[in-house]
Amino acid sequence: MALIVQKYGGSSVSDAASIQRVARRIAQTRLAGNDVVVVVSAMGDTTDELIDLAAQLTSAPPTREMDILLTAGERISMSLLAMAIDALGVKARSYTGQQAGLITDAEYGRAKIIDVVPGRIQKALDKGMVAIVAGFQGVNTETNDVTTLGRGGSDTTAVAFAAALGADVCEIYTDVDGIFTADPRIVPTARQVARITYNEMLEMAASGAKVLALRCVEYGRRYGVPIHVRSSFSGRVGTLVTDELGTGIPGLLPQDAQAANEAKNGDDMEAPIISGVAHDRTEAKITVVGLPDVPGTAARLFEIVAISGANIDMIVQNVSAQQTGLTDISFTLPAADAPAAIEALTKARADIGFDELLFDDQIGKLSLVGAGMKSSPGISAKLFGALRDAGINIEMITTSEIRISVVTRAEELDSAVRAVHSAFGLDSDGQAVVYGGTGR
Ligand code: ADP
Ligand code: ASP
Ligand code: MG
Repeated sequence: MALIVQKYGGSSVSDAASIQRVARRIAQTRLAGNDVVVVVSAMGDTTDELIDLAAQLTSAPPTREMDILLTAGERISMSLLAMAIDALGVKARSYTGQQAGLITDAEYGRAKIIDVVPGRIQKALDKGMVAIVAGFQGVNTETNDVTTLGRGGSDTTAVAFAAALGADVCEIYTDVDGIFTADPRIVPTARQVARITYNEMLEMAASGAKVLALRCVEYGRRYGVPIHVRSSFSGRVGTLVTDELGTGIPGLLPQDAQAANEAKNGDDMEAPIISGVAHDRTEAKITVVGLPDVPGTAARLFEIVAISGANIDMIVQNVSAQQTGLTDISFTLPAADAPAAIEALTKARADIGFDELLFDDQIGKLSLVGAGMKSSPGISAKLFGALRDAGINIEMITTSEIRISVVTRAEELDSAVRAVHSAFGLDSDGQAVVYGGTGR
């Protein structure tokens, strides 16, 4: 008997029939003798629809009210799921994040988990019940207000409860069969990987692969929670996110280990050089034109951006023009953070002393990720060559030890991803299945 945390994403519970399908899987897991904690997301695209509704009323909704609004989505799915499981004759209880004991700081919309106190969840398990927890929400105990963890945060809720309860595995059920070498919605020939390390998945998630939320992977790495990403539609064995690849497959339940051996859906004897190609269309680029090229300018500029609350990603500074001693700095940031950053910079224009600001939200970012990169020469050359052959211009470049990222025009991003994926020989013979979801 194991303690299993299962998380079901929005596309897995998009309507009554899907909720019933998921309820059957949960009931089966419970009836097989396991203790089961379920974390559930809002149905389908509910969260996006609630955001759209708020946007019809105001361009700057108060963040506290926004969090109260968004947590409603998960309250709907958690209670419906509890009813569906109960109807199958298995006892289930649903809990909001607050009731479940997920304590956060007071940063609405991007709250960080401070503590998980799963007393009520443990009690429900002790009584033989399936405990259902609303994803992506918690409470700040100073204000006693509900908070949300940021988009995709139900993954983090699941791993946080898995860590707090000492679960054997955290299963993330979604609308694809696991983690692929690229988003199967863009690259149908993407290859499913059997295993990936926390570090590689961290880079993939940080580079936009939304199959797992970044903070969920960080949390999993810190507490050593094996994460198993799989489809709620097919039930096939998916992808394990674990420590450095070695022998043994921690986190696979016995029935899955057998299926994994039979299916041999990947080869984890030797770690591949490249784990995948990620993409991100949620960033924008700001160029600050005509900055004085003197010590302290960049510090001043980015202090102001930081105070606006924006998270900087890439930065490029041009060489300064000799006659003028002026230079330009371009940086990328989440498009959602751009209005505040632009407002703050515009106010500080005289102080920093630049000529003008250019804003561009029609950019895309492609990232090639792989731990083997640091010991294999020629990876950048091959990446740039693939983009050249596809006629795609590179606007910015950054690298880390195990990642190379480039910015392209937004409309060229899909072709760029396909070109790079092929150039690195990542295509499989088969076609990846996307079982549901709208890709929103
Ligand atoms: P959920 O609603 O279950 O949380 P998400 O939409 O957040 O699902 O994440 C699953 C989606 O992630 C897939 O449908 C796929 O389009 C996308 N995705 C992006 N990169 C990858 C990747 N490397 N492997 C698998 N899926 C990916
Ligand atoms: N419902 C939230 C979102 O859409 C949280 C989640 O699904 O993980 O971002
Ligand atoms: Mg998600």
